Amino acid sequence: MLISGGPLDMLRHADMVIVGAGFYGATIAERAANEAGLKVVIIERRSHIGGNCFSEIDPATGIEVHRYGPHIFHTSNMAVWSYINRFTTFTGYVHRPFTVHRGEAFALPINLGTICQFYRRHLTPDEARALIAGQTAELGGREPTNLEEKAISLVGRPLYEAFIRGYTRKQWQTDPRELPASIISRLPVRYTFDNRYFADTFEGMPVDGYTAIFDRMLRHENIYVVLDADWFDLKSSIPAAIPTIYTGPIDRYFDYSEGRLGWRTTEFDRTVVPTGDFQGTAMMNYADEDVAYTRIVEYQHFHPGRDRPKDRSVIVYEYPRSAGQGDEPFYPIGAPSDRSLFRKYKERADKEPNIHFGGRLATYRYLDMHQTIGSALKDWDRMKTTIVQRGRTPATHLQTETVGRFDTLSP
Ligand code: UDP
Repeated sequence: MLISGGPLDMLRHADMVIVGAGFYGATIAERAANEAGLKVVIIERRSHIGGNCFSEIDPATGIEVHRYGPHIFHTSNMAVWSYINRFTTFTGYVHRPFTVHRGEAFALPINLGTICQFYRRHLTPDEARALIAGQTAELGGREPTNLEEKAISLVGRPLYEAFIRGYTRKQWQTDPRELPASIISRLPVRYTFDNRYFADTFEGMPVDGYTAIFDRMLRHENIYVVLDADWFDLKSSIPAAIPTIYTGPIDRYFDYSEGRLGWRTTEFDRTVVPTGDFQGTAMMNYADEDVAYTRIVEYQHFHPGRDRPKDRSVIVYEYPRSAGQGDEPFYPIGAPSDRSLFRKYKERADKEPNIHFGGRLATYRYLDMHQTIGSALKDWDRMKTTIVQRGRTPATHLQTETVGRFDTLSP
């Protein structure tokens, strides 16, 4: 979208510019407007708010789909939970995915039920622990230094090879020995029959979808959202004195001058199938490497309480791959070479005047939604005094005559 006249003027008079309308940017914008009365302009490259959490209604089925892959809200952070509940209520959805290995479906995360089914015998928690402990001996007591070693230390080699190695190779396009152990630490391993994916205190799906959350966070007279606009094209017209929050990829900010960080992206193949229930659950992973996709997501199962067609359903096949030029970067790969490259960018970012880097893409961290909101709330608390003290004029209603608009797609 072309920006000229009024909106450019408005950009010049903003108290704060935010690059990106995902959870990090939206949280800072909401706080800055509501707590400090600042005039905030958000510049978003895409044609919608919500970043990768954006949800929309599939026109053929009326089912809510998350355009950039499934998002399940979960947190144990009371401050984050209270904050997000100002903008939505949550359903009681509890995520219990499955994985297919050699034609058989197993419950995830790896739990006592998965272990018993895999070894075709009933095991007590102590027996299962003893079995796995025997298998982890191959590590010789060493601290795991990569994803493969970490996974073996948690579940032993046979379960690693069945459920983790192939899936991880497909998902990250990287050998698990090159990946950080922290990726696998996201998944719990349980010696009980509890097959909840997340171990957090609070979990659920936003009752009227993710986009509605962003809509409510940003619907404020002091917040102006410019869609379809690349901040890099506008930067030279914005006074450098205006504090800026940058939530895009950190390597893009520096024009990739030190090199490109490794990111993973995903192709989504959305299909309407002629059955009311395709797979009986929201998420079915495919652990084997001879299946090209990592998982199939059937979105109606995220909201079992909603009305839906009985004769069709929308499913999405996910094909991850490394992100090349022009792709949407979703997940930081974080191989050792990436980590040293990131440190170079971080050093430079710390020296940039009047700009703050936040969120998954700018900090090159695999943050979940709740962690992103939590870090934005903390960062806002740290930065607010300085920003408010800059002594801008009291907030007045922003002119919104030509560009900014809200995409409201609440189901
Ligand atoms: N993982 C796996 N098998 C599975 C599911 C996950 O090996 O069936 C591993 C994989 O390395 C993945 C990591 O666990 O990257 C974290 O999985 P998560 O479900 O958190 O990934 P996300 O849904 O965020 O893409």
